[in-house]
Formats: sequence, C-alpha cells, structure tokens
Amino acid sequence: MGQYISEGLFFSQRTLAVLGKNACVVLEPGYDAVVQGKYASSSVEEIIELSKSLHKDISHIWYSHYHGDHVGNLPFYLKRISDPVFLIGHANSPIPEQYSKVQLIQPAQFIPISRQQELFLDGRIYQFIPTPGHSIYQDDLCAYLRQEKILLVGDMLQPQGTSYEKADGLSPVPYFFDGLSYLDSLTILQNLDFEQVITGHAQRLDKNTAHLWLDVTFACVKRIQTLAQMAAQNQPKQVAEVLCEQVYDQLVQERHFDKNMALARKNSSMPHHKSDYVLYDLPGIRYFVQQSLQSR
Ligand SMILES: [Zn+2]
Repeated sequence: MGQYISEGLFFSQRTLAVLGKNACVVLEPGYDAVVQGKYASSSVEEIIELSKSLHKDISHIWYSHYHGDHVGNLPFYLKRISDPVFLIGHANSPIPEQYSKVQLIQPAQFIPISRQQELFLDGRIYQFIPTPGHSIYQDDLCAYLRQEKILLVGDMLQPQGTSYEKADGLSPVPYFFDGLSYLDSLTILQNLDFEQVITGHAQRLDKNTAHLWLDVTFACVKRIQTLAQMAAQNQPKQVAEVLCEQVYDQLVQERHFDKNMALARKNSSMPHHKSDYVLYDLPGIRYFVQQSLQSR
C-alpha cells in the first residue's frame, strides 16, 4: 500500500504520483503489476483509483529509462486511461516506437527530452535532466521537482555498498554501458541542489545518504577506468576479455565483495544462459578496457 510522503506526493511501490491542482503526474511507473501478473492490488490500480477519487486525471507519465523494471507498468496505465496521456522520456528512448507499433500510444503523445529542460505541468516546475551512461540506449533521464527539491534518478545511483571498501550489494560493480558519459552524468547530479533522492528501485534517500551513494558510484566507475588503463598499459597484447576479468577480480578484492558471490556471478544458472557477470558487470568494464586498448 502506498502512502503520502508530503502534501500532494503519493508514493506506491516504485512510483511517485504528484497530485497537483487539477491533474496527476505519474513519475517512474515501475513494474509490480507485471511481477504479480495482474492489475488488481497493484500500484497502478492504487494510483488510478486515487486520481479518480480526487478528480485529478493522469495527464503525464515520466519514466527514467527503457529497462523493464521501470516501464513494465506503463501498458497497464495506458490501457486504462481514457483521455490521452503524455509520456515524457529521453529522446533516445526506444519505448515510443515500440508502443506506437502496438497502438498503445500515438507518436504525438510522446514528449522527447534531449537536453536539460523545464516543463511547467499543472502548477509545478519539473526539470528533466538527461544523464546517459547506464542504459545501452543512452536514454537515462532524471526528473527534479524544483519546489520540493526532490530528485528522481532511475538507476543512476548504484553504489553496491555503503562505501568503496564495503560492497555488500548484489555485485561489486555498477551496471553501465558508457563509462565517460556515466561519469559526466554523475557529476551533474553531484552538483544539483536536492534535499531528497528517490531511486528507480524505491529507495528514498536524504541529502547526505544520496551524496554518499553518488560519490561511491562515481568512485567505482572511476576506479574501473584506472584499472582498465593500467591493465591495457601492462599487457597491450592481451585479449580484452582477460583484462576485463582481471579488473573485475581486482575490484572484488578492493571492495571486499564476497568471493563466493563474485565467483557465482561468473557462472550462469542455466545452460545457454549468460551469467550475471556477462550481463551486468562486463559491459561497463569492457567499455573502459576497449577504450584503453584502442588509445594505445
Ligand atoms: Zn536500469
């Protein structure tokens, strides 16, 4: 069940519903309806029912990037909202084309954001900030509520632990595809004046914790870059995949990540399936290793 986190801001699962003067703006749809396999008792039902009861129709839905755990609920919303609703996403997002093909939206219902931009929606200023790096489509987009100083970051903050030396998350490395863009994007976020950060995985962080998470994520990505450069310099003839594994193993050691978990990530749970290491850890490491090998 959701709850109000402050006046007009209702939080359910991974979704923040902003109930303004006349309308409801949905931020980060999440995917709990997909996980439970039904609309009933989902955050979608809760938010649609709430908007109906307050006579504030859903006018806009913003999503942080195309990953299924962030947009899975979108079709559940779109199929149940009778008035046209606008989707706000990064201009690089593959979602509008996919949804247009199956008639979930018309192309004109998509508001593409490709640079920092403010939108005045139902009495509130929303700042949208492109922050590429995490998603392979370069479609990461953050949303900032100017009035409340709340920043919604999608998957940008992935410290995987409380400090660089203590990685007790699922992995020793953040999941990203474009390392330099990611570092630039994290720097933009470090300089924003926020009081609260909400991640795309429902974590609500106060200012200090959010800065810690930003700094640790940045430190991990930066360290991968440095280790990749050193590996390429010392072994310029070595194949990239071997260097990547060396960087990963070094990170496991430096961050005191559980060695059995580190090993388990390299083994796929099912035959013919890629391991978590290949799917989530390797892309970012490979980005820097390839870059380092090429620049030699
Ligand atoms: Zn993601």
